[in-house]
Amino acid sequence: MRILVANLGSTSFKYQVLDSDKGFEVTHRGAYERIGQATGTYANHGEVIDVILKELPQPPDAIGFKAVHGGPISGAVKVDRKVLDTMEQFADVAPAHNPCYIAAMKSFHEKLPRVPQVACFETAFHSTIPVARQTYAIPTEWTEKLGIRRYGFHGASHRYIATRMAEIEPTAKKIVNCHLGGSSSMCAIKDGKSVATTMGLTPQTGLPQNNRVGDFDIFALLKLLKTGYSAEEVLTKLGKQSGLLGVSGVSNDMRDIEKAAADGNAKAKLAIDVYVDSVRHYLGAYTVALGGLDAITFTAGIGENGAELREAICADLDFLGVKLDRTKNKVRGKEAKISSDESKVAIWVVPANEELIVAKQTEAVISGN
Ligand code: AMP
Repeated sequence: MRILVANLGSTSFKYQVLDSDKGFEVTHRGAYERIGQATGTYANHGEVIDVILKELPQPPDAIGFKAVHGGPISGAVKVDRKVLDTMEQFADVAPAHNPCYIAAMKSFHEKLPRVPQVACFETAFHSTIPVARQTYAIPTEWTEKLGIRRYGFHGASHRYIATRMAEIEPTAKKIVNCHLGGSSSMCAIKDGKSVATTMGLTPQTGLPQNNRVGDFDIFALLKLLKTGYSAEEVLTKLGKQSGLLGVSGVSNDMRDIEKAAADGNAKAKLAIDVYVDSVRHYLGAYTVALGGLDAITFTAGIGENGAELREAICADLDFLGVKLDRTKNKVRGKEAKISSDESKVAIWVVPANEELIVAKQTEAVISGN
């Protein structure tokens, strides 16, 4: 079965075709950016789909979406009216993701009406998180009637790390995975299952993101609204002009921020410190949640390539048995163990492979396994 895996952002479209009959080998891939922007080539995701379908020698047998928020619908499910409607209902809390996925699902259906579609929701891996850790301390009717609770995201990435670590470091039962990229989250994984994660109802919370706020005191909103900002302006600032960009004032890209910090820019240095401190905060919390720590894994753009960031995150943690090997840590973008021989905790760089998880889940849904 040839499965097209679609990985969308509000202005981007990445895809891979994996063939389940060839051990999920990747046969085609592509990436499109700046969709719907004045400087870009494509007006919308539908135009990109036309280009992709022309690029491929034949249409795929199935399409798997790395879908984000389906509220009460989790796991991997066939896309139908109900799934689309529910994604629509949760579009307000995943505004950068749900609308573009809905548009792409409809567009693929128009162009390839007989090709089945599967939505693999990013929240699914986190369904094993204990209820006490899913629950916000709010009136229960908000939780029960409106579904306001911690869901967690980056499920395909965290799940891939859990399965890959079972192969390369099988004795590690208590793992903290650091998915550090344009969008960042961490996950405490015990015996292969998620038991805690940093994102919540929305992918806006937890670690600071490239241009989204991360953890924040909700009552600061009152002060901002009183200052004269409209709710719309506050949300735009928190969702698009905060995070690494907001603190550094330089860029939302860690490479630019590291360069500015090295050139003496104090705000860029502060943005890195805020980010590292947040990762260490959760590393400590999750070591307690797991009742110990066997391994730390780094994945995604910053996690795979940011050697200095990894060093800062692991600094002075000998008391936890965490000891990085500075030479091994020079690795960029490759699977490698980077802990020193005497480290009690294994430290790994594991390149993300979310597409493999989505393709396997899609194949399982279509073939009924
Ligand atoms: P992703 O969303 O996983 O593609 O990750 C994107 C992030 O990875 C951006 O902030 C990049 O700046 C960051 N990144 C890529 N290469 C490096 C590098 N060599 N050092 C630090 N950060 C990097």
